[in-house]
Amino acid sequence: MIISHQPVMVDEVIRYLITTAEGIYVDGTVGTGGHSLEICKRIAPKGELICLDIDKASIGLAKERLSPFGQKVKIIKESYVDLDKALKRVGIDKVNGIFLDLGVSSYQLESSGRGFSFLRDEPLDMRMDQDTGVTARELVNTISMERLQGLLWDYAQERWAKFIARAIAQERQKGPIASSLQLARLVETAIPGKHRPRKRHPATKTFQALRIAVNRELDNIGDFLEKAPRLLLKGGRLVVISYHSLEDRLVKHAIRHQEKANIYPRRLPVIPDNRPPLMKALMKKALRPSQAEMNINPRSRSATMRVAEGI
Ligand code: SAH
Repeated sequence: MIISHQPVMVDEVIRYLITTAEGIYVDGTVGTGGHSLEICKRIAPKGELICLDIDKASIGLAKERLSPFGQKVKIIKESYVDLDKALKRVGIDKVNGIFLDLGVSSYQLESSGRGFSFLRDEPLDMRMDQDTGVTARELVNTISMERLQGLLWDYAQERWAKFIARAIAQERQKGPIASSLQLARLVETAIPGKHRPRKRHPATKTFQALRIAVNRELDNIGDFLEKAPRLLLKGGRLVVISYHSLEDRLVKHAIRHQEKANIYPRRLPVIPDNRPPLMKALMKKALRPSQAEMNINPRSRSATMRVAEGI
């Protein structure tokens, strides 16, 4: 298969993540291995890379792509939320760098056949991990109209949430909503004509919200960020790329929470549970892709990158 996914902010990831070519690194969202391939090139032959993903098909593609690096790369089907357990299983305590590239891959959008895209007619699944969890189809056909509305607002700030939830509730009385295109058309017609966005598909936010809900994306990020500092060596880096403001805010606040005792030693003498800070932000503002990258890779346009350092 030709892998269409263009990794985002590769130069920046390499620059901030890799502090020594002899270290141990983690790519917590290997996808089809775009970033991992570049990381491997920089740390071979001495460094090691541990890759996680929950999408079996993506893992298969990444394994093939990273096979030239042999034993120096381990690819494990595990959620990054359980990175601590995965590391324990391979006998590693702390690492030199952890990288997360959140969101959805081009492979998942374009070729997985799981209904991630409003441009394709596919079964409404949207699970990244097909071994477990509830599908988007189950979600849209079973939860109450009020919960649907809340979810569209909470996970995508969809201002037409009420209209869309009502249209879904009406439609499913006739029979289950089963395909991505069926849902996309329904959402489009639910938004009053003159308010329909022109620059993006009217169903963009609905699809984002459902995907976040199905995969518990925000909970996962929160849980992971609690654990991450303890898995970093002193001077080790945490690099996270987010694709919407909710994710970015979580990352920003988690880093700030960790370093709080550092920044405001007088005003906030103790952090809540009395532990010393384990991580500090490397830069105040999030990094954004270059204009040149945004011109050639549309997926990069919404990307923001934050970096923290273990202390
Ligand atoms: N950097 C990759 C693309 C990553 S896209 C590349 O260059 O190819 C995001 C990936 O995160 C997807 O493959 C998705 O399956 C994965 N993912 C989503 N939630 C995850 C989780 N909780 N744990 C591990 N991987 C996850």
